[in-house]
Amino acid sequence: MAPFRPTLGVLGGGQLGRMLCEAAGPLGIPVIVLDAEGSPAKQANGHPSHVTGSFKDPEKIRDLARKSDYLTVEIEHVDADVLEEISTEGVEVVETREDGTQASWMKKVPVHPAPRTLKLIQDKFLQKEHLRDHGVPISEQHAVESGEGQEGMVKGLRRVGEKLGFPFMLKARNGSYDGRGNYVVKTAEDVEAAAKEMKELNLYAEKWVPFKMELSAMVIRLEDERGDNVSTVAYPCVETVHEESICVRTYMPPRDVGNQIQEKAKNIAKQVIETVWGRGVFAVEMFLLEDDTILVNEIAPRPHNSGHYTIEAVPQMSQYKAQLYAVFGLTHPGLSPNLIPRVSSAMMVNILGGKDAESHLPLLTLADASFEENMDVHVHMYGKESKPSRKIGHITLVSTSLDIEGLERKATEYVEMADLIAAERRDSGSKSMRPIAAGRTITPKSTTLIARSTTQKKQEKPVEEKKSAIFGQHIQKKAAPLVAVTMGSDSDLKVLAAGLKILDDFKVPYEENITSAHRTPDRMSNFARDAAGRGIKVIIAAAGGAAHLPGMVASHTPLPVIGIPVKATHLDGQDSLLSIVQMPRGVPCATVGINNSTNAALLAIRILGASMPEFSRKMHNYQLDMENAVEEKAGRLQRLGYKGYLEGMK
Ligand code: ADP
Ligand code: MG
Repeated sequence: MAPFRPTLGVLGGGQLGRMLCEAAGPLGIPVIVLDAEGSPAKQANGHPSHVTGSFKDPEKIRDLARKSDYLTVEIEHVDADVLEEISTEGVEVVETREDGTQASWMKKVPVHPAPRTLKLIQDKFLQKEHLRDHGVPISEQHAVESGEGQEGMVKGLRRVGEKLGFPFMLKARNGSYDGRGNYVVKTAEDVEAAAKEMKELNLYAEKWVPFKMELSAMVIRLEDERGDNVSTVAYPCVETVHEESICVRTYMPPRDVGNQIQEKAKNIAKQVIETVWGRGVFAVEMFLLEDDTILVNEIAPRPHNSGHYTIEAVPQMSQYKAQLYAVFGLTHPGLSPNLIPRVSSAMMVNILGGKDAESHLPLLTLADASFEENMDVHVHMYGKESKPSRKIGHITLVSTSLDIEGLERKATEYVEMADLIAAERRDSGSKSMRPIAAGRTITPKSTTLIARSTTQKKQEKPVEEKKSAIFGQHIQKKAAPLVAVTMGSDSDLKVLAAGLKILDDFKVPYEENITSAHRTPDRMSNFARDAAGRGIKVIIAAAGGAAHLPGMVASHTPLPVIGIPVKATHLDGQDSLLSIVQMPRGVPCATVGINNSTNAALLAIRILGASMPEFSRKMHNYQLDMENAVEEKAGRLQRLGYKGYLEGMK
């Protein structure tokens, strides 16, 4: 009898495999992954039988098959011939009998989607020829003859240019993803550079599509025992936004697209998936033109970036759950035409590696700091090392009440921040990768050669300017505060300004507050009691006269409290100083000089620095700057003498 939960073997352990594991775990489905040690999927799933190696290695694939009841893929660039052999002839399994003798038998393992589909999709040119033969609308395309050397290729590209006009899109037929195989040949002058850069690849050319939008629909394909298609059901279609040929965002539903067009896109997607073979989820990428014509761009035979939103938006049957049920051939009432989203709108923002390993962190800080009544934020990091333009995570934003335009407005900061990370990466001239050709990865000369949709605008403002406007302000104000600054009265604010500036300069997230120990004792005690629970690490409290605020705050919290005596109208601030400094034994309250909010802020940063190295590093630099400033002054005094020095001070 078949096990209640069969074991699934997955070729590829990237983020799609990881999210498949994340869906399989709670359902009690064992998943075994074939990929490198520590790949994202393996990090999420500690199955003891994972296979280490390449999903292109026939022996490793056979190893995986021996341990699995079904096989599937999370990437199409696998050895499909071996999969074909495993599903038709089987894989040899050797067993040792009780008497010590050995017996071998051939184990057939079903592979979904069918290896035949994988082979077809692996060659983009043939994939589209297949679609055209089945009456699916596609952009005009021509094979490009390679193997004639650079000169032959230049001639070939010129001929293609004459047929397709400029610009046209030159694409790698095999091995491409995330835009790695695309090259926009803008004019006839670009032909030589294109030939030089792409000559190692097996190529074809596509007529440029002046689309107004890109759409994508995930489709679930089910078959009966005989392998006949019994149903194809589509998820709601989404708008996908690409920059430099890489998907950066998706919107569900698409913005400004009526129901009719959405239904048309879903129907085309279903029509496409009816022409292939095997079970599982597929993505169909499409171009929507100005006149609402839809052309199909390509198929992905697996879960897809444009279906990530289903994890939160269609949680009853996400694309990953659907993949599991469909591959196993299980009927589930959720695999029906009623893949109804449980939210009114959803957006997905990809987290792509930036210029530096940490460039993307502000996006996470933003997500960590936001909580909204009508927008939920879901972060997915993939456990991948950050590299420029690499997909290392995504953030899904969903709302149960807002429409997509409302959600888009709420999510503005996410989009702006992702754009800035991209602009900074582009400005730094970091390179995107090309597919593997003849055993090596090609790095292009310039990312500007990679496709940029005509509908996408370039960053106009200098990146640094925009970056400091958004990152600087935003991170300080929106990131979860680490320091709480409170004062007995708004008149203390002038004294606090210098300290707040220091916190700004060190990019310390902080919050400001007015609480009076005498006039609002309850407010003060609530503030002090909650502070540690809210993630505050240090409190700065300023007060004048009978300055009880810092001491009282200290008595309500386990956090370190720094008191600033403020000079009030009488006694030159001596009264405030003594009120704060003379705390009873057992309730410490650090006290800085009268009106010295600068030192209060610096002390707070040193306290943070004890456990957060970034602040300790910044403090060290601040001290070096101070030292240099004094050295510089001493040097000037020696050079100019006291009279000249005083002259300069006038
Ligand atoms: P990948 O396999 O890397 O996703 P695609 O063929 O889907 O490659 O191309 C990536 C992106 O490049 C598309 O989503 C689209 O933005 C752009 N693109 C691809 N083909 C064309 C074309 N013929 N005309 C205009 N833009 C295109
Ligand atoms: Mg694509």
